[in-house]
Amino acid sequence: MKRPANNKASDVKRWIKDLLRSMDLVCKRHLNRARISKRDLDSYYRIYQQLGLAWEYLGLQCKHVEGYRKITGGKQACRICGKIKGVKDQFVLLSALEPKKIGNMIKPTSNKTFANAKAASVLDDSIEFHGARLSVNVHNCYKSRIAKCIPDITIADERIVNLREGNVACSIDDYRVHVRMPVTPERGKVYGGFVWELKRETLKRFPVIMEYDDKGNFLGLDILHGIGRKRRCQCR
Ligand SMILES: [Zn+2]
Repeated sequence: MKRPANNKASDVKRWIKDLLRSMDLVCKRHLNRARISKRDLDSYYRIYQQLGLAWEYLGLQCKHVEGYRKITGGKQACRICGKIKGVKDQFVLLSALEPKKIGNMIKPTSNKTFANAKAASVLDDSIEFHGARLSVNVHNCYKSRIAKCIPDITIADERIVNLREGNVACSIDDYRVHVRMPVTPERGKVYGGFVWELKRETLKRFPVIMEYDDKGNFLGLDILHGIGRKRRCQCR
């Protein structure tokens, strides 16, 4: 079976050319016919729509290597697939067999302070991947109002990545990695503190293992959770 993201550019070009020819044929020979029954018109309209959808999918494989030609309205269209330059695709092409990649690393784009969150937004996207949910939010600085009687505060620009697996949530931004464990029914108030501020008895109840090197530098930590949960054993 062919890998969709790996087709040769020449194949893609030929497929798109054939597809556009079919769309033209349906349009000229049928949709623009002087005398056509409503039933036939509906059928050919649906065929044209389906070909249009196929064109969108096929266009995702086009790398626009032959450049763009000028069209009306000051816009530019790809010489191969006809897609308009700068217009966002509605779909994403992913290979089923190779590492999947969507988008690039995006950081805040401006030093300006925007009037509101919507104007400051650079990216707000999410994906569910085999049961795990990943979201990325990037925004520039913006003014935010908490209450009418309080002056506006400025929300700093940042990039926040959130990962949720089951009911454990992890959030990463430029200054902090935060892990939120599942909420238990008996949980009351939430407290926070540096490790050295906590009592030994409290620390002993935390299923956390700190990682550090010979010089005492912090390297990471493990949080043991789901202890006591039955493991599915493959042994027989
Ligand atoms: Zn193209």
